[in-house]
Amino acid sequence: MRKKRKRRKQGSEDSAISSVNGKKVNEMGSVWSRLGAEVNVIEFLDHITPGMDREISEEFMKILKKQNIKFHLNRKVTSIKKTNNGVQISTSDKNGDSKEFNCDVALISIGRKPFTSNLNLSSAGVKSDEKGRIKIDKKFQTSAKNIYAIGDVIDGPMLAHKAEEEGIAVATIILSAIGSNNSPSLDSSPRTLANIPSKKSVNDAIINNIKAVKSP
Ligand SMILES: Cc1cc2nc3c(=O)[nH]c(=O)nc-3n(C[C@H](O)[C@H](O)[C@H](O)COP(=O)(O)OP(=O)(O)OC[C@H]3O[C@@H](n4cnc5c(N)ncnc54)[C@H](O)[C@@H]3O)c2cc1C
Repeated sequence: MRKKRKRRKQGSEDSAISSVNGKKVNEMGSVWSRLGAEVNVIEFLDHITPGMDREISEEFMKILKKQNIKFHLNRKVTSIKKTNNGVQISTSDKNGDSKEFNCDVALISIGRKPFTSNLNLSSAGVKSDEKGRIKIDKKFQTSAKNIYAIGDVIDGPMLAHKAEEEGIAVATIILSAIGSNNSPSLDSSPRTLANIPSKKSVNDAIINNIKAVKSP
């Protein structure tokens, strides 16, 4: 793994890895950081882990900073170019001040989409929506009678435990052992970040029904 680089141009940051933020990038960046790489996280917003509780987000960033990950918030990526030594990421802040990041690897994690475009779904009679998500009914059945779909390729949060529960539910439905749909409620499905330490959250509908009590 590349060690800290000595020469540093003004307005530029050199590191082994620069990550263009997203929840997954925090996870992967923290793995690489713990393996010894210098990691810079570039985030457009003024906080990391958007969608999670702000207090958790702030505490989480403090923990990651202690793991030597550097954060560059309120910074927009304008271009990423390959160079002879790796990758150059150009960024600018709200005032238009630019800064370049020269690194070995750029990890990019902005949004995810279902990986269905090359599956030739239509030839099997499986319909998908405008975002490429496979359409299903309440029993995970697609428009093709004997084909079911679960996980990241269908509507809903792209989370491991959601896919897992749906897999169990659809297996139960197919076997008709119970005869009812065990589909997990997405309203109560928690979200996780598999960092060290890990972070978990549930959606606002549940949080609004919980009285928060803080101990000193
Ligand atoms: C970096 C990263 C970090 C993540 N962290 C978290 C986390 O902390 N918490 C969380 O809840 N979720 C997390 N996720 C999301 C989680 O991994 C997914 O939501 C979950 O794996 C979805 O399960 P799945 O079965 O739908 O798809 P997958 O787990 O992607 O499984 C699909 C499988 O199908 C195979 N495949 C694809 N196309 C074909 C084909 N044509 N023929 C045969 N096989 C094929 C793939 O190779 C793969 O093995 C993370 C994802 C990433 C990428």
